[in-house]
Amino acid sequence: FPALYVVATPIGNLGDITLRALDILQRVDRIAAEDTRVSGQLLAHFNISRPLMSVREHNEREAAEGVIARIVAGDAIAYVSDAGTPAISDPGARLVAAVRAAGLRVVPIPGVSAVTAALSVAGIESGDWLFHGFPPPKAGARRAQLQALARLPCALVFYEAPHRIEETLADMAAVFDDARQVTLARELTKRFETIVTLPLGEAPAWLAADPNHVRGEFVVVVHAPAAATAASDAEALRVLEILAADLP
Ligand code: SAM
Repeated sequence: FPALYVVATPIGNLGDITLRALDILQRVDRIAAEDTRVSGQLLAHFNISRPLMSVREHNEREAAEGVIARIVAGDAIAYVSDAGTPAISDPGARLVAAVRAAGLRVVPIPGVSAVTAALSVAGIESGDWLFHGFPPPKAGARRAQLQALARLPCALVFYEAPHRIEETLADMAAVFDDARQVTLARELTKRFETIVTLPLGEAPAWLAADPNHVRGEFVVVVHAPAAATAASDAEALRVLEILAADLP
């Protein structure tokens, strides 16, 4: 039982906690949390009372040493981030890497993530997608990144905050083919959950149509480019490889 348990928590609807998550959170010696206040509220809701410790992004490396020492001493430790699955656009990866590097067990207790929830309703038929987390906040870096991703023959999944959703979608409509479909998944599992699929070029107008449309948390799923574009890219790549082989 001594190990680090990486426990997924709900992203809105508390009914999404898993039975196994509740069992583990009740039984561990200590719960390490991204924010002890946020996780304290969740645990209180489920009548779970365990000692909490803080493992935030800026102290993750030092905190990992403490977690390792406790597991070596025989403790079971759970790690939870504020919402969803730890290490998915959230802290946790550094802690996990350090605990595994120390030769100790790390056990996933899977559950909700906004990325899988959004993909499950986006209708990506090919099944190929690339998760990119949050786009860079600065416009220049963001456009450069979108440019680099534009020709990949797969769907692209992003997280975005409400205060940047308008500029990010405007950039996507400008950089990508604006006929490309996009699924906006907003406030998943919550009361005002909204899921729409429309051409990228129409996304800015959709956001502007209702002040509620820009509120809350978003997953943006940009569907794959039209087959013709992807195919011609494959051909371009083949030609490039032939040319590169001839270079000194
Ligand atoms: N670890 C989390 C997970 O597994 O999904 C993600 C944490 S990240 C800091 C927060 C971002 O996830 C939000 O800005 C939003 O893009 C996305 N997100 C989280 N909850 C969401 C929800 N209920 N509906 C839509 N997007 C959500």
